[in-house]
Amino acid sequence: MKVTAPQPLVPLRHAANDRRGRPLRDLRISVTDRCNFRCPYCMPAEAFGPGHRFLGGEELLSFDEIEAIARAAVALGVEKIRLTGGEPLLRPGIEELVERIAGIPGVRDLALTTNGSRLAPRAAALARAGLRRVTVSLDALDDETFARMSGVGARVAPVLEGIAAARAAGLGPVKVNMVVRRGVNDHAIEAMARHFHGTGDVLRFIEYMDVGSCNRWNRDEVVSGEAIVRKVHAVLPLEPLDPAAPGEVARRYRYRDGGGEIGVITSVTRPFCGGCVRARLAADGTLYTCLFATDGHDLRRPLREGAGAEALLERLRTIWSGRDDRYSELRELLPVVSGKVEMSRVGG
Ligand code: SAM
Ligand code: SF4
Ligand code: SF4
Repeated sequence: MKVTAPQPLVPLRHAANDRRGRPLRDLRISVTDRCNFRCPYCMPAEAFGPGHRFLGGEELLSFDEIEAIARAAVALGVEKIRLTGGEPLLRPGIEELVERIAGIPGVRDLALTTNGSRLAPRAAALARAGLRRVTVSLDALDDETFARMSGVGARVAPVLEGIAAARAAGLGPVKVNMVVRRGVNDHAIEAMARHFHGTGDVLRFIEYMDVGSCNRWNRDEVVSGEAIVRKVHAVLPLEPLDPAAPGEVARRYRYRDGGGEIGVITSVTRPFCGGCVRARLAADGTLYTCLFATDGHDLRRPLREGAGAEALLERLRTIWSGRDDRYSELRELLPVVSGKVEMSRVGG
C-alpha cells in the first residue's frame, strides 16, 4: 500500500524567517481604535477625550481588505489569528469578519480579545460564526477597583456574564487577562485567583507595560510576575507547568489541588522576544512587527492601488524578513523611546 504524507493545508512556499530566525505564526488584527472604556493604562481619558480623532470611514480597512491581508499572512505561515481593538465588539458586523477568517484554509486558531462588557448577548453568534476562543480582560472583582481600572466607572457583573456566556457558547476555556498596577489593583490578585480557581477558565496576570506613551508608565507601578505568583501561591499553592506551545508568551502554573491553571505574562521582568512570532495589524492597515514599535508598514495603500494576492504576500514577506525587533530585551538599555504606537491601535 502506498502511504502519502499528510499535505499542509497551505503550501508555505513563501514562508520566511525574520533576521533573528523567527517565523511568522501569529497575527493580531485590530478592527477598531474605538473603545467604550478608558483604562488609564491604555486609553487615558485625558488623551482620548471628546477632542480625540478616531479613525473613520475610508480610513478603516474594509472586511475585504482585512481578509486579503489575513490570507496573505496565512500563506506566509500564520496559523493563529486574534481579533482585537480598541474594543472589537464595537465594530459593526464583526461576526461576518469572524466567518470570513474562519473560512481561510490554514487558520488553526481564531480568537478575540474583548473587555467583555458587551459580550454576553454576542457570544453565541460569534461561536456560530466560527470563533474558537475568547480572552476577556478583567482587572478586579469589586466595582470600585474595576471602575478605576476601566476609567469609566464600568461594573463587573456584565463582564462576568460575558465570561459565562462565552463558556456556555463553547468559547472556553476563557482566558481572563488581569493587568496588575501596584497600588491600584494589586490587592485584588488573591480574590481574582480564588474566583477563577476551579472554573476551568485561565486567569492570566499581565505585568503593566510601557506600551505607547500616553499612559505615563512608571516602572514603580509594575508588580513582577514573580511577586504575583508568590501572592497566589500563598493562598492557593502552585507548581510550574511546561509551555503549551512553542513561543507561548505566558508562563504557566497549575494549582496543586487540581483547581486548574494560571498564566503570568512577564514582558517587563522576563522578556520573551526570542520566541516572538507575532505581527499586529492596526485598523487603518498599518502593520507593526513589535508591540513597542514607533513605525509601521502601510498595507492599505498597496491594497487600494490594486495590489493582488501575490504582491501583497511579497510585501509581507519583505517586511517580515527585515524584522529585527526585541524591544523588551533592550528596555533597560534604551533611552526612553517616544512616539511608540498606542495599545489601542494594535490591541495588545
Ligand atoms: N479592548 C479589549 C480588551 O481590553 O480586552 C482588547 C484590546 S486591549 C488593548 C488588549 C489587552 O491589552 C487587554 O487585556 C488589556 O488589559 C491589555 N493592555 C492594555 N494596555 C496595557 C498595558 N499598558 N500593559 C499591559 N497590558 C495592557
Ligand atoms: Fe479599551 Fe481594552 Fe484599552 Fe481598556 S484595555 S481602554 S478596554 S482597548
Ligand atoms: Fe515581540 Fe516586540 Fe514584545 Fe519582544 S518586545 S516580545 S519583539 S512584541
